Amino acid sequence: MKKKVFKNIVFITIDCLRADHLHCMGYPKEISPTIDALAKNGVKFTNAFSNAPYTPYSVPSFITSRIPPIGKNVKETIASILKKNGYATAAFAPNPMVFGFDITQGESITRGFDTFDMMLSCKQKYRLFMGSMRQYGMNYFRRLLKEEGWMYKFAYPMYDKIIYDFPEFFSPKENFIIPSAEDINKCAIKWIENQRSKFFLWIHYMDVHEPYSSPFYDNQKEMLYLITKYRDFPNKLTKHEIHKLIDLYDLTIKYVDGAIHDLFEKLKELNLFENSIIIITADHGDAFGEHCGILGHGGKFKVRLYDEVIHVPLIFFGIEKKGMQINKVVQLLDLGPTICELVDIPTPASFFGENLFSKSHKGAIINSWSYIANRTDKYKIVINKSDPDKSELYDLINDPLEEVDISDKNRHLVHNLKQEMISVLSDYSKKRKMLDIISINRKIFSKFSAPIDAEYHSGYSDFQDETSSMVALKPSSDQYSKILDPSRDKV
Ligand SMILES: [Zn+2]
Repeated sequence: MKKKVFKNIVFITIDCLRADHLHCMGYPKEISPTIDALAKNGVKFTNAFSNAPYTPYSVPSFITSRIPPIGKNVKETIASILKKNGYATAAFAPNPMVFGFDITQGESITRGFDTFDMMLSCKQKYRLFMGSMRQYGMNYFRRLLKEEGWMYKFAYPMYDKIIYDFPEFFSPKENFIIPSAEDINKCAIKWIENQRSKFFLWIHYMDVHEPYSSPFYDNQKEMLYLITKYRDFPNKLTKHEIHKLIDLYDLTIKYVDGAIHDLFEKLKELNLFENSIIIITADHGDAFGEHCGILGHGGKFKVRLYDEVIHVPLIFFGIEKKGMQINKVVQLLDLGPTICELVDIPTPASFFGENLFSKSHKGAIINSWSYIANRTDKYKIVINKSDPDKSELYDLINDPLEEVDISDKNRHLVHNLKQEMISVLSDYSKKRKMLDIISINRKIFSKFSAPIDAEYHSGYSDFQDETSSMVALKPSSDQYSKILDPSRDKV
């Protein structure tokens, strides 16, 4: 049998990097030469989707190969499996949100990492805290003003003038500062230089995340004005200003691409580049007003599941396959099983995903607080959990920009796609229950064992309950009784 020659794994995630802003994915601007070259000489997945539109769901999901939310006390992560198989493991991830909305998940996410460095000093944490407090205040102030009220008409122009003339005073730049890609590289390289055996290194770059503070933008005062307005009064941004924000976003991609180039140069200098598998992806994308004027990816209740926030790059380099493009729809929770296959170690039973290079063609499940979606090659169905009658259906072949909801005219198709999703979620629920022996919340169960008369039986269950959050759709009462049969727990 042929022996695997590679051994190190360098896993790079770029927060907020949407797939369609890379030149290798069709973006006209050549802002990503390093990533493009990697894609050209490696394997590029053109239809990779994050399982959630924001970090607190997405990162725990791909680290543990589970549909988000992952729940507590998850036993295995990509790092824990690799560590058991002789890898030194480290993460450099300066985003507190990687632990999920529930901080107790931190124990699960960090499992298996010898080093897990958030790289945030006390001063930076304090600044971030002050920045978020200021933001809460501004959001409250905005609501208080009520957009069309007289106070708003009076106060907004004053606010706009002040932040235009004195952006630094009104919104100190220090509040936005997080470790840059270069800072992360320094720590990561130092760690690599101390390794004497094969390693798994996870780097999570934050520069592409707002405030999009690119060192390449020559008007730093304007940059601060734009981002302050973006945070405080996003609906007041003009089209021209949104285009400027896109330019800023692109410049941050260019900056991170340069940092990745520097990291690769260092790996080459240490004779590690050719001996490593390199994986590049993102935890989610970012919106620039494509749908309903929504910007960014935050706002856990409001964020929608359009492609601009879930379509992410996915590139493998240093594996046997080269110069390949794979167009099937895949999901990031398949990363864990894929890495296991690539380094020839058994995939743990707790990983829900499958090897990305297998012939399987399942599509992607995307879950958020308010919506759940199934993304296939042809269609995307999005279900509003609190009001399933508001399901949306998009024909991605004839309407790739998801502009026309065709659910009303295609009730039968909606029904079938919902059933497919229920089937996937039911399988997943069973697997999780068998593995984790999850105790069922009987109150929730009794709520859902009531007769259901809707044609396609969909609905929303309490999000905090593990079982119900896995099976966020209501199957028929028959199907549901099988999924949530309390006797299963006694087995
Ligand atoms: Zn993120």
